[in-house]
Amino acid sequence: MAPHRDDDTPVQSGKPHAEHLLHRSLVMHPSMVTSAKGTHLTLSSGQRILDACAGAAVAVIGHGNDEVHDALLAQARKVSYVHTQSYTTPVAEELADFILQGSPHGLEKAFFVGSGSEAVESALKLARQYHYERGQPERLHVVSRKQSYHGNTMATMSVSYNVARKVPYQGFAYPHVSYVTPPYAYRYGLAGETEAAFTARLLRELEDEFLRVGPDTVMAFIAETVIGATAGCVAPPRGYLAGVRALCDQYGILLILDEIMCGTGRTGTFFAFEQEDVVPDIVTAAKGLGGGYAAIAGIYVRGRVIDALRQGSKAYNHGHTYQAHPISCAASLAVQKIIRRDNLVSRCRTMGKVLERLLRSRLSDLRTVGEIRGRGLFWAVEFVQDRETRETFDPSVGFGNRVQQEAFRRGVAVYPGAGTVDGVRGDHVLLAPPFTVTEEELETVCRVLREAIEAQEAAVAGMAA
Ligand SMILES: *Cc1c(COP(=O)(O)O)cnc(C)c1O
Repeated sequence: MAPHRDDDTPVQSGKPHAEHLLHRSLVMHPSMVTSAKGTHLTLSSGQRILDACAGAAVAVIGHGNDEVHDALLAQARKVSYVHTQSYTTPVAEELADFILQGSPHGLEKAFFVGSGSEAVESALKLARQYHYERGQPERLHVVSRKQSYHGNTMATMSVSYNVARKVPYQGFAYPHVSYVTPPYAYRYGLAGETEAAFTARLLRELEDEFLRVGPDTVMAFIAETVIGATAGCVAPPRGYLAGVRALCDQYGILLILDEIMCGTGRTGTFFAFEQEDVVPDIVTAAKGLGGGYAAIAGIYVRGRVIDALRQGSKAYNHGHTYQAHPISCAASLAVQKIIRRDNLVSRCRTMGKVLERLLRSRLSDLRTVGEIRGRGLFWAVEFVQDRETRETFDPSVGFGNRVQQEAFRRGVAVYPGAGTVDGVRGDHVLLAPPFTVTEEELETVCRVLREAIEAQEAAVAGMAA
């Protein structure tokens, strides 16, 4: 048995505090954060960190916003919890109405849950119920894409392609899933292939996949509008999502766009799909929805999907104890009102242009920088060992992690990614600062990132020598 600690030793960054909280790693202790304000975190060591990834693209309005604190405290004083079987609250109604006022793009209903995985799970169950109510119970199959991430519960992990996370669960997952090529031209485009030809090839592959499994057995195609953590901020080629929409319509398949990471303004429009010629049947949202002030996620559903339920069982056969939690809804509503009042989506678009310019001008000449890509304030730098052949680093080098750790030591937090190409090979770091980030802060981020990459280029070259 572990010895009982009853001393009050102050917590030190990097040192275990107590033994009872299960961390992601059993050997690496995460950094202790004692306060967070605006774009900065303060560690127990006293070090200040510029949060250039907003956690995981979560803190859209930055940290420690007192307006949001006041709103959630005020809600807690009114009603902190009711069960949605019998009750609703003004704040939950207002949040849904605030986001879906006027049914943008035909999105009519919002359903709020506690995490992104729950939102994707809710979307999958709704898609399934839609076909069931319409008398097509044989539609069980989900077509997803390689290099995608949709969550960490059993069903959402099953439709994801995050290889490393799935290894222990072979045979334990939802079986009716297949994966097509992602619209990730830097890795999956062929030499000399035009954007139009690449798009046409991907759409042909998707249709072939529908036909292979039997289009009458497919319930949904699920995709991130802009790919997030798994491949690193990959926007689709022109016409791709419109083509996907047309194929889904042709075969009666629902289109679920997962905007948990890329949505809620992150790419410079409120819905990431607004920059594509496409309207999904179900959209998921999470990270930026609550901005980190509360655990909240949601799905937004097109009227025609709801109509199938209206004409059928007249109920959504799904629910959670904490759905539409009043305090979470209050936090989210306050965040969304700030975003709208302060024009932060437009600011995200403008600052995104600044970030793009800085990244390209500061990093493009580095020999390990393969591609710089993204939209809005959602950017990734993919690393290569050789820019000509695009050869990746050996995964054991952990180049992306090295750069992330080096940048962190120098006071800037970026989000690392490994297995960028196929779940095993490839490295990137992801930048997703708060929409409130300043140009000066972006200058710092890009300067430090350059220094971190150069330091690790030298370190890795030293290892090889
Ligand atoms: C983060 C993420 C999820 C999962 O959300 P959790 O809140 O971690 O469960 C699902 N899909 C995408 C695209 C994500 O980025």
